[in-house]
Amino acid sequence: MRRLRNVKIVATLGPASSNYEMIRALFEAGADVFRLNMSHGTHEDIAARHKIIRHVEEEVGRPIGILADLQGPKLRVGTFGAGPVDLEEGQNFRLDLDDAPGNAKRVQLPHREIFEALEKGASLLVNDGKIRLRVEEHGSDFANCTVEVGGTISDRKGVNVPDVVLPLAALSEKDKVDLEFACDLGVDWLALSFVQRPQDVEEGRDLARGRAAIMSKIEKPAAVNAFDAILEASDGIMVARGDLGVECPIQNVPPMQKRMVRKCRAAAKPVIVATQMLESMIESPMPTRAEVSDVAAAIYEGADAVMLSAESAVGQFPTEAVATMNNVAIEVENDPTYREVVDASRGGPKRSVADGIVSAAREIAETADIKVICCYSQSGTTASLVARERPHVPIIAMASRMATARRMSLTWGLHCVKTNEVDRFKSAVLNSARASVREGFADLEDQLVVTAGVPFGEPGTTNILRVAPCDERKIIPADPE
Ligand code: PGA
Ligand code: MN
Repeated sequence: MRRLRNVKIVATLGPASSNYEMIRALFEAGADVFRLNMSHGTHEDIAARHKIIRHVEEEVGRPIGILADLQGPKLRVGTFGAGPVDLEEGQNFRLDLDDAPGNAKRVQLPHREIFEALEKGASLLVNDGKIRLRVEEHGSDFANCTVEVGGTISDRKGVNVPDVVLPLAALSEKDKVDLEFACDLGVDWLALSFVQRPQDVEEGRDLARGRAAIMSKIEKPAAVNAFDAILEASDGIMVARGDLGVECPIQNVPPMQKRMVRKCRAAAKPVIVATQMLESMIESPMPTRAEVSDVAAAIYEGADAVMLSAESAVGQFPTEAVATMNNVAIEVENDPTYREVVDASRGGPKRSVADGIVSAAREIAETADIKVICCYSQSGTTASLVARERPHVPIIAMASRMATARRMSLTWGLHCVKTNEVDRFKSAVLNSARASVREGFADLEDQLVVTAGVPFGEPGTTNILRVAPCDERKIIPADPE
């Protein structure tokens, strides 16, 4: 089951996509990674979806990544006594800790830490940024605000506080329970929401104890400001444009996206561009021109993956949305301009042996008639370095650990294969040659490039490169140990 594109597709599962038929159809349409959103659905729902994905994975014989997205410290107002309330521009509105039902004058905001951290003049954004409040005065248990932009407010609407670094724990009590649950299930990636500092990432990593890779969602100005340190602390990044576009001026989001995608490639860490990519497909079988252009732009920029949220979770056309991304990706990647852009942004030579090997692998593969680069990777690091080179030749990531193969399914261009443990380079070459032919990347008369680290079992030791025939009968007699 070979994909005809390099960029990956992440599909969020939800009520519209929770049965076997739909999940299998999404995979076949092109989904490489499934996202389980811990903000919605019960643990029972999530466990059922997880089980179906693993079943599909078994059936199709290709590692599938599963990303559990933790809700994070999302702020919400309390409830209203008599239904939704219209806030008018210029009126006063008070937020406090009182759990009595809200009305046109006030509502509960059940987060004491927030009141203490607020500053006079700070903005509070309610309901996806639609309502804007300005803090006039605040105490340790209230904030009196002026409505700058009015709108309808109702039960449990979200609140964003863009201007202030909030003294919030990165993981709420719910997140900790969800994290344990997700790790027990065996997810491959954990996404942390509303990360503000690198320490937040460390906290998630400590709790995950190696059971899942850690992705930081960049959706606050504080995270944009601390991006380099957060990237360093993370295994991957999600450009979470939904909340980011609420917390920052919306026109700042595209340049931020470009910068983050570029930095992730330089760091050889996967980056997902997320949210509203094909929003209109929630209700329509056809995307808008602007949406198609947005998906294409993310791919031209060099993103590892593009993501569907509501489109696949609650929309009416989940498979059509995945197929649309797939078709856009194929077109973009066949455009000579795409190659030019990607090649031009490769970056200068790096200094490690592994960097030298992967760059040589690309050059040899592109110079000679080589059909595939097979990369033996213990932890996934070398495979990511090969992917960063963005070779014109396909890459097979050979992983003896299923967890590694699944994690890497998010990375640009990696066709992941679970292989058996080897202790000699010769066996690595044999396995690679077999996989190239079996997975449809090469014929017996072709050649492949194999990279590996010897001795095996020590991550980060990539030190060997070989051009070999794909026909195993030609490898055995000629090959040294
Ligand atoms: P969410 O994150 O869908 O969990 O809110 C993505 C975003 O904010 O863009
Ligand atoms: Mn978000």
